[in-house]
Amino acid sequence: MIPYGRQWVEDDDIDATLEALRSDWLTTGPKVGDFERAFAQFTGAREAVAVSSGTAALHATMYAIAVSPGDEVIVPAMTFVASVNCVVFQGGTPVFADVSKDTLLIDPAQVKSKITKRTKAILAVDYAGQPCEYDALRSIADRHKLILVADACHSLGGSYKGRPVGSLADLSTFSFHPVKNITTGEGGMITTNNPVMAQRLRSFRNHGLTKDSHERERAGSWYYEMTDLGYNYRLTDFQSALGMSQLRKLAVWTKRRQEIACRYHAAFKGHKALKPLAVQREVRHAYHLYVIQLDLKRLRVSRDDVFSALRAEEIGVNVHYMPVHLHPFYGQRFGTGPGNCPVAEAAYERILSLPIFPRMKEDDVNAVIAAMDKVVATHRVGPHSS
Ligand SMILES: *Cc1c(COP(=O)(O)O)cnc(C)c1O
Repeated sequence: MIPYGRQWVEDDDIDATLEALRSDWLTTGPKVGDFERAFAQFTGAREAVAVSSGTAALHATMYAIAVSPGDEVIVPAMTFVASVNCVVFQGGTPVFADVSKDTLLIDPAQVKSKITKRTKAILAVDYAGQPCEYDALRSIADRHKLILVADACHSLGGSYKGRPVGSLADLSTFSFHPVKNITTGEGGMITTNNPVMAQRLRSFRNHGLTKDSHERERAGSWYYEMTDLGYNYRLTDFQSALGMSQLRKLAVWTKRRQEIACRYHAAFKGHKALKPLAVQREVRHAYHLYVIQLDLKRLRVSRDDVFSALRAEEIGVNVHYMPVHLHPFYGQRFGTGPGNCPVAEAAYERILSLPIFPRMKEDDVNAVIAAMDKVVATHRVGPHSS
């Protein structure tokens, strides 16, 4: 089975990790700071704060911007549950905005229509790896004095109008889970230009303490104070060593993801039943996912049948995602359900994610295209169906 995504850990990544494991620091030490500085430089942000997962990055961000009970945060319906759960962690209320039907990115017009006196922030998700419409989102945020947060867990390596992902919102969050564009096993990062926010994030990842153990050791002091309630969301030094080694390869890996996407685009042009997601102009897409929308009117079967047929051909397709407002938890807690975000709901019936990852061989890309050709030819409506 060719999986939809897969990590790539090479000998030099392993060597870098082992070197850190043999050093005096296992958890937060000098490598965390090195990784943060390299990451800030890569994304063009002033500050980067490493944490233990993308979910921790989102939670810390909601804390840093002081989301609390009564506050609303506008989120897209089409994303992974963690993008929305983080609002609930802090007692806030997520307000779902629908997505644009060709990109499945949060629709700025929908965002505008959801603003109330309680709105505190807009949380944009760079779905599949394509940066959202940040100019439009920024102007809405500025006009209504809202904080703009990017869940950039899919889009590390991408850019918007020449500006890198990580410097497009007030705070941007990243994940280093193995299927993401670089990995540390588990891990995450937040970027921001705001030093006050960065300080709040650093305290939150370490129990709400004023100084971490590395800082205390350097200062030759044992003293610390707890000034707010925090968590243990630290990234280890050996994970940071791995992350730094992975980051060096990201530019090449992003190019490879784009090459694979180009091959799929070209191959599927001939199929009216297959619609790849639209890509905006002036955007560098990081292609964490390659998503197509099936035109179900041109097929005699459902998405689930196409999914099963491709799986039978050893193609590890997947579905990203069931819209978050349709999950039972959100229905029970916030009364959301079918009809709230019709564009995301209709898309959910016809999306499929195809394998895309930098280590993918040309033969694998050919195999995906051949399997897709076969499945579409078998099930399409019209005179050519078998
Ligand atoms: C992966 C992901 C997360 C969560 O990241 P973890 O590191 O798995 O906690 C959050 N948001 C999106 C959009 C993701 O894809």
